[in-house]
Amino acid sequence: MGIGGNLLGYHVLDPVAAVVVGLMVARMGWKFGWDALNDLMDRAADAETVAAIRQTMLETPGVQGVHDLRTRKMGDQVLVDVHLEIDANLTVAEGHAIAAEAHRRTMARHNVLSVMTHADPVYVAAETRRR
Ligand SMILES: [Zn+2]
Repeated sequence: MGIGGNLLGYHVLDPVAAVVVGLMVARMGWKFGWDALNDLMDRAADAETVAAIRQTMLETPGVQGVHDLRTRKMGDQVLVDVHLEIDANLTVAEGHAIAAEAHRRTMARHNVLSVMTHADPVYVAAETRRR
């Protein structure tokens, strides 16, 4: 368009075409740069994956609730960090077994590299306790 316009006498089309091409190149540069930067930096897993992992943990018997679930992508795998709410009246061994099971299920069902669990005691009424 720039060359054609120039030959036809529309000299303004040449710099306009140059600006358009320049913008296209700049846009591509920005996009590639942004993608590369994201790959280099820590990134959380997508919302769908996080929701699925949360669901797996909540389905584990004895897990009363989940909070501070954090994820980081490492390659195509995910590192998980989570606080599990566990009945405060259980023994340490019982609470540990619940956390270990939540860990096992998460590793088995999701593309997860590691799961770090932290146990938070919660006081729950017997009738609302999740089993
Ligand atoms: Zn906590």
